[in-house]
Amino acid sequence: MSGDHILETQDLTREFKGFVAVNKVNLRVRRGTIHALIGPNGAGKTTCFNLLTKFLQPTSGRIFFEGQDITREAPAQVARRGVIRSFQISAVFPHLTVLENVRVALQRKYLGPSFQFWRSERTLNVLNERAMELLHAVDLQRYADLPAVELSYGRKRSLEIATTLAMEPRLMLLDEPTQGLGIEDVDRIRQLIKKVAADRTVLMVEHNMSVVSSIADTITVLQRGAVLAEGPYAQVSANPAVVEAYMGS
Ligand code: ADP
Repeated sequence: MSGDHILETQDLTREFKGFVAVNKVNLRVRRGTIHALIGPNGAGKTTCFNLLTKFLQPTSGRIFFEGQDITREAPAQVARRGVIRSFQISAVFPHLTVLENVRVALQRKYLGPSFQFWRSERTLNVLNERAMELLHAVDLQRYADLPAVELSYGRKRSLEIATTLAMEPRLMLLDEPTQGLGIEDVDRIRQLIKKVAADRTVLMVEHNMSVVSSIADTITVLQRGAVLAEGPYAQVSANPAVVEAYMGS
């Protein structure tokens, strides 16, 4: 595989009791780019994400990350390599403050499950400092002491990105990052994704075509589990098969 590609799948396939949800997908994600995975409902996007993070095992095919075959690795191993999926909103601890939410993610990354370390004030200070840096990166610094439950829906998405950044992703998987957001929040998250992608690779499932067209370098269109088209937005959006898949859905 080429060193340009941080992630590559070869004939990645997943069946559920004979139903082929992901069908011989050859996905190649170039390092340092924003890559969007799109397609109608049921196309296999979520299953792909679950396969890439190893929450599901492929029925056949292979997955390479940074040139290493990770097909047989466990989710924790893959996460340690830096393949990190954005936390779902439900994973935000509502009654912890915004800062504490990021600190918990850092604690998971650096200290593992042991809470012993919390007793060290020095460790706590280091974690707080790093958490604050991450809040600055997503422009949530002024909400640091607010219970997460009090954040707007849009700002919760920013917090989700901060907790994902805490895990030091090399490949950040974002699952519909702008879903359910109003125009202003969509724009904010779009800018934020562009910013975080400056020094890592982003693979996102996204339905909002204005977001996809404005920030994705490459788009892979899935339909019924298979790749229907791939390329930059201008090319993919002019593809009659893609237009039909979208209009027909
Ligand atoms: P998308 O994310 O593009 O909407 P999914 O990956 O969720 O699509 O689903 C692809 C297909 O696989 C759908 O037809 C879905 O019903 C099926 N599928 C997904 N997960 C399972 C499962 N655990 N068991 C059976 N079928 C599943």
